[in-house]
Amino acid sequence: MSPKRTLLLVALTFVTVACICCPTNLVLFPPTPTLPPTDTPVSTDTPTPIFTPGPCSDAACQQACPGLLASIVSASEGYSPLKTSGGGTESKDSVHILVRYPVDGDTLGNASFHAAPADLEAYQQDAAAHQSIWDFFTSIIPAEQRPMVNEFVIFTDGDYEYLAAVERDSSDLNHWALKVDIADAGDHKALAATLLHEFAHLLTLNNDQVYAAYYNCPVDYINPGCGRANSYIDEFYQTFWVDIYDEWAAVNALPEGKVRDQKMAEFYYTHQTHFLTAYASTEPAEDIAESWTYFILVPPPTAHTTGARKIMFFYEFSELVQLRSEITARLCEYFLNPANP
Ligand SMILES: [Zn+2]
Repeated sequence: MSPKRTLLLVALTFVTVACICCPTNLVLFPPTPTLPPTDTPVSTDTPTPIFTPGPCSDAACQQACPGLLASIVSASEGYSPLKTSGGGTESKDSVHILVRYPVDGDTLGNASFHAAPADLEAYQQDAAAHQSIWDFFTSIIPAEQRPMVNEFVIFTDGDYEYLAAVERDSSDLNHWALKVDIADAGDHKALAATLLHEFAHLLTLNNDQVYAAYYNCPVDYINPGCGRANSYIDEFYQTFWVDIYDEWAAVNALPEGKVRDQKMAEFYYTHQTHFLTAYASTEPAEDIAESWTYFILVPPPTAHTTGARKIMFFYEFSELVQLRSEITARLCEYFLNPANP
């Protein structure tokens, strides 16, 4: 365990769902795509799907793809989403928003520049790097899956800390911004895992999936809000969170600070076998995002654990199995193309 892990595990706190910030520098992914020990057996009638890494364009890609996906998991070691207190990236003094781009499909519009310290001007002016990061995102996430992304933001807080975030427009719940820290974007495999996590928020927290108002929600579990009937996140909540909701909600309701951080860490350690990562324990929205990332990157698990069940959860939806196939193919073709960085 790295010293930073101990430090940061007790720093788990919450922001509102509007800005979901995902820093680097936390060892939460396991070093290998293994799963927690058995705690809750799954029913024996759970179907085991056949692992298909996706329709790569050629045999060489298909052969290399599983290993490539595993290498993304390995590269993610030390890079995992972690929210911090205070309402997101823009509320931290160390975070500098550098450039905002309007987005139209795959295309970035004209940049609008924010005031930034002189030592960050190189990052701010590096339009080629901004475009490269955006192209990476659009190359791995199909266009029809991201119509809600209407802004792309380049920021930095220096090395580590935040890596990426998604932020929902408070005035239009169908519009989201994708934010990436240019200082941390050079490790494309770590960035890939984080972008998969961010995309999970777009997939599960968009306006078609959730209510963001208290009055629609008998149980408030998305800080604030809840999933609409038959939404992915509500199915996930009903399956995995009902039994631990009261305990989590009591911690979640505490005012931000050291006591709450410690209680949230205790909640994780109490229920460690329920979660694929510590960050997943911070709320259902992060749990489903972390589980989605594993769903994309690892073969279907055969272990009978809650973590395995969370990965298998997505196989219940044929459209998500199809999407997994497409994303894995895109990932593999990107990384196996020597022309890409
Ligand atoms: Zn997240």
